[in-house]
Amino acid sequence: MEETPSKVELAVQMTCQSCVDAVKSSLDGVQGIKSVSINLAQEQVIVESTLPTAEIQDLIEATGRRVVIKGQGTATTSHLGAAVVQLELPGPVMGVIRMVQATQDSCVIDGTIDGLTPHGKHGLNIHEYGDLSQACNSCGDHYNPMSARHGGPLDAERHAGDLGNVTAEANGRARFRIVDNRIKVWDVIGRSMVVHSREDDLGKGNMQTSAVDGNSGPGIACGIIARASGLFENEKKICQCDGVSLWNERDVPSAGPSRSQYAQPQQSQL
Ligand code: ZN
Repeated sequence: MEETPSKVELAVQMTCQSCVDAVKSSLDGVQGIKSVSINLAQEQVIVESTLPTAEIQDLIEATGRRVVIKGQGTATTSHLGAAVVQLELPGPVMGVIRMVQATQDSCVIDGTIDGLTPHGKHGLNIHEYGDLSQACNSCGDHYNPMSARHGGPLDAERHAGDLGNVTAEANGRARFRIVDNRIKVWDVIGRSMVVHSREDDLGKGNMQTSAVDGNSGPGIACGIIARASGLFENEKKICQCDGVSLWNERDVPSAGPSRSQYAQPQQSQL
C-alpha cells in the first residue's frame, strides 16, 4: 500500500520537562513514526507517522499520561477535507473513525473500533445513506456510484465504499489505518460507515451474494460521516460547551444524558 504519512495532533497531560522527555522516549525509534514535535506549554504533541492513531495514543499513555486526539491532518500544511464518524448504533460495538483527504488520490482512514469478536475480521464499508433511523438497516447498500461489483479495496473493480476488513485484537479492539485511492472525503460526507458482523470475502466468495456485499453479514455498528476540523483547527481546551474538561473527555460519552454527569461546574468560560 502507498505510504502516505499523516500528522495527528494530541493533547497530552504534561507539566514539566521530564514529561516531555518521557513522551519523547515513548515514541523514540518506533517504526512508522517520521517526526515528533512537543509543545509543553500547550500540552500538545504532533506526530507524523504511518501508524494508526490509536497505536500512538497507546504508546504515550503507557507513560501514565492522559492523551486526547485533537485532530488529524497531512504531512504538508493543508489537507483537502476531513471527516469523523462515530460508530455507535445499534450497540454495543462502538468506534471512532477519522478521515482526511491527504491528496486527490489518497484518503487516510484511521480508526478504533471496540467490542468486536476477539481476533475476528470484520468488513468495513461506506454505505449509501446517512440514515440511522433503523440503525445500520437504513444505511442502504455499499456506496457504489459506478454500479460496479463488490470487491476488495485494492481491486480495480469494487464499490467505492469497499474498504475491506479490519481485524480485532485479543481485547476486541481493532486499530487501523487505511490509505484508500478511491474514496474522496467530499463524496462521502453525509453518508454512513458500517462495520459488519463477519469477514468480507472481498467479492471472491460465493457468487451472487459475494458480488453484492461480500457476505459480511449485518451491520453491527454504524455512524454518519460528518465534516470535521483538521489539524490545528481545534484550539479549545474544552471540547464541548457543557463543562466536560478535555482530560475527562476520553471517558465520557460524546452525547446523550449520561454525558452531563461528567460536567464540571462552569465558573468561567475558557
Ligand atoms: Zn461492496
